[in-house]
Amino acid sequence: LSSRLQMAMRRLTGKGYLNENDIDEMMREVRLSLLEADVNFKVVKTFIANIKEQAVGEKILKGLNPGQQVVKIVHDELKRVMGQDAEGIRYNINGITTIMTIGLQGSGKTTAIGKLGAYIRKAEKKKVMFIAADVYRPAAIEQLNTIGKQIDIEVFEQGLIDARDIVKNGLKYARENDYDVVIIDTAGRLHIDEKMMQELIDVKQIAQPNEILLTVDAMTGQDAANIAKSFHEQLNATGAILTKLDGDTRGGAALSIKEVSGIPIKFASSGEKMDSFEMFHPERMASRILGMGDVLTLIEKATESIDEDEAKNMMEKLMSNTFNYNDLLKQFKMIKKMGSMSKILGFIPGMGQLKNAASQVDDKQFEQMGVLIHSMTEAERKDPTLIDKSSRRRERIAKGSGMKVADLNKLRQALETQKKMMKQMMNMDERQLESLSKN
Ligand code: GDP
Ligand code: MG
Repeated sequence: LSSRLQMAMRRLTGKGYLNENDIDEMMREVRLSLLEADVNFKVVKTFIANIKEQAVGEKILKGLNPGQQVVKIVHDELKRVMGQDAEGIRYNINGITTIMTIGLQGSGKTTAIGKLGAYIRKAEKKKVMFIAADVYRPAAIEQLNTIGKQIDIEVFEQGLIDARDIVKNGLKYARENDYDVVIIDTAGRLHIDEKMMQELIDVKQIAQPNEILLTVDAMTGQDAANIAKSFHEQLNATGAILTKLDGDTRGGAALSIKEVSGIPIKFASSGEKMDSFEMFHPERMASRILGMGDVLTLIEKATESIDEDEAKNMMEKLMSNTFNYNDLLKQFKMIKKMGSMSKILGFIPGMGQLKNAASQVDDKQFEQMGVLIHSMTEAERKDPTLIDKSSRRRERIAKGSGMKVADLNKLRQALETQKKMMKQMMNMDERQLESLSKN
């Protein structure tokens, strides 16, 4: 999926103006890249229609050119297709939490069980046990045993007897031994068949699981989504684990599964190591598919909660000469929210000059200044001249914050600089502002 889509998006972001041809070409590229990645064609159709609709109707975001605007739309649509940020495991508050895993053979089920177990133990401090109920291949039990030993989680196994009995006995054993969470490994085939399905239905009946997690190989395409759908119809999965995300992922499964089967993707598993397992974040996956970290970061910043009213207030304050330490503190917080000031200022027309000044202040300095301001009395914060007039106040504040008077003086300077810069800007005419913003 990635390379083609990424190339198309790259071309777009350079454009300051988009005509219909550009949009059409982009749509073609998006469609092709999705189909190439083996995304389900219905999903592709909806996807394209949604993008088109938004690309036409979108209000322009400050700081983004039209090309970047479209990238944002594609990104958001990718995110939407993969669903909401999923909730994790729903634990049973009074008793054992039982998790049943299902999935085709080779989809990464047993590996994912190991990772999930380690994850739950670490995140929830719960006592976890595995049940080896994949009884068609001796190697499967052996594999779970090996994983269990590796991460020090007990594996309940009874060899190759009927899976239903193993699950029954395993759950009894777990209750007797105070386990909090039991994860059941079940058999998969290379294809879904009736016998396997019946066994899974029986195991579900016996275990009454709190979660039924379906492993889906991310390296496969829409097939995986169709398989997920038929599992879901019979067993009502509560979530999917997308496995093998470390491989050459085309993205087809990730993009198809939610829309085709309705199963939310809950976890992402990506490698042989037992700790490469995390909650699934559609946002991250979308970014990864688009692979445009830089542009996406920019988009994010431009759309993030830059509180416009707040900014306006600040401007008015600065102009009226009542700008005080409380305002400066607020400004620091805003800047922090927006990320590094020098980066963000580059996006705002007329801020070229500020950009240079801000690039000399790093996060740590912001933090120190914050501490200093917090050591002031409310009266001092509101009226900076109190501090200007009294060396005793200056010493007290420095002492209280554990810093030097020289540090406080730097802060006083910063306040003055802010005032001056803003005043300068207010006095500039439009043309000057424009030439500044181009720097
Ligand atoms: P199961 O048959 O569904 O239980 O699948 P397994 O857990 O046995 O995994 C099948 C194969 O895929 C094994 O060779 C695993 O080592 C490999 N595998 C599983 N998960 C991952 C993963 O996240 N990344 C990679 N690269 N390989 C994986
Ligand atoms: Mg297995």
